[in-house]
Amino acid sequence: MTMSRKKIAVIGAGLVGLATALKLKEWRDDIDIVVLEKEKESALHQSSHNSGVIHSGVYYSPDSLKAKNCIRGYKMLLEFCDKYQVPYKICGKLIVATHHSELAQLDKLFQRAKLNGLEDVKILNQEQIEEIEPAIQAMSALWIPQTGIIDFKLLADSISRLLLKMGVEIIYHQEVKKISNQSVLIIDTQNSSYEVDYAVNCAGLFSDRIALLAGLKLNHQIIPFRGEYFKINASAAKNINGLIYPVPRSDLPFLGIHITRMMNGEVEAGPNAVLSFKREGYQRRAFSWIDFWDSILYIGFWRMLKKFKKDGFAEWKKSMSKKVFLKSAQKLMPSLKLEDLEPSVSGVRAQAIWRDGRMEDDFLILKSPKMLHICNAPSPAATSCLSIGQTVVFEVKSDIGQ
Ligand SMILES: Cc1cc2nc3c(=O)[nH]c(=O)nc-3n(C[C@H](O)[C@H](O)[C@H](O)COP(=O)(O)OP(=O)(O)OC[C@H]3O[C@@H](n4cnc5c(N)ncnc54)[C@H](O)[C@@H]3O)c2cc1C
Repeated sequence: MTMSRKKIAVIGAGLVGLATALKLKEWRDDIDIVVLEKEKESALHQSSHNSGVIHSGVYYSPDSLKAKNCIRGYKMLLEFCDKYQVPYKICGKLIVATHHSELAQLDKLFQRAKLNGLEDVKILNQEQIEEIEPAIQAMSALWIPQTGIIDFKLLADSISRLLLKMGVEIIYHQEVKKISNQSVLIIDTQNSSYEVDYAVNCAGLFSDRIALLAGLKLNHQIIPFRGEYFKINASAAKNINGLIYPVPRSDLPFLGIHITRMMNGEVEAGPNAVLSFKREGYQRRAFSWIDFWDSILYIGFWRMLKKFKKDGFAEWKKSMSKKVFLKSAQKLMPSLKLEDLEPSVSGVRAQAIWRDGRMEDDFLILKSPKMLHICNAPSPAATSCLSIGQTVVFEVKSDIGQ
């Protein structure tokens, strides 16, 4: 008697879903993998609307999933890019302190980088900063030479091509609408139904809704935050060599505009972080009644607003006024002028907010019968995607056996 082959579905073809499918297929070639994606191609949301930075793992607490997956994911990412010729550049990154009050936090980051195994990070003085980034004025800076840049959409396209060669099906225009747990898992999309033994939810901005479809009781919800960028025009950008970041706040590490040279040679400033009333709303006026009600009927949303109302208002002002945005960017690059900034793209972050209003800072992975859910995968999840895929394999092994 022949045993029927096991089948696993991955929901979402962003970088986390694609890398998960790749690691699952590498683990067991005898399992059929199908990726279900609602759009017409891979990686049209967070995975292609981001800063394009290959993070090296400075910020994260050493015992966090972020630290583990970013440090391991960094190595896996560079190996993948070398093997499959995905272009990237290791240009280094400066985290700059422009005020005395930031020096202690900069030193904390230096210690944390060492704890995370980044031996070659250095604290630089003003002269050394000027040698690396002549346009920057700062009191002190942390230099992280291994940070790099990449076009994450090209990475996603490369993983998609490899998956197809390995026999993984990626099926587009498949929006998952219903999940029933019977003897097998039945996943319904708008026009098809799939019977699988197991599924991994990698739906990014919609990961909470997929988890609810699977019957999970959640204590968090995804709240979307739009991040808007400005392009710095060529003449002002000519003195920017790599990546310039502010010292992050310990309570809101993702806040703070940075200056980034991209793979296409352009230099961008951003992103801010404004509440979005549409989960995939890239324009300032983007609005969805469903997403709006979903946010405002959630107690965690109001508790978060109460906690961070001052910061929320400051970010909103940065979105509404180019002058306010400029002021924030001038902290890093004082020579920048209003006419140097041209509006550019934006991205929307999927941020898990707990019912008590806390923002989940780490990656969050939950389980329901026959399913694993990647419930919070903000930055540096693009850098970490291959390692997150490996982590998923570890969990799936324990659920469905070797
Ligand atoms: C502004 C910004 C800047 C960032 N900068 C960086 C950076 O420099 N470096 C870094 O490492 N990370 C960065 N990140 C984070 C990184 O981009 C994300 O963490 C990562 O792309 C998440 O990948 P994902 O696959 O989980 O989500 P996504 O890329 O959003 O993919 C989710 C997929 O699921 C699909 N989907 C959703 N619902 C359904 C459904 N019902 N049925 C089927 N499919 C569905 C979506 O269409 C989408 O394709 C940034 C993020 C943002 C927003």
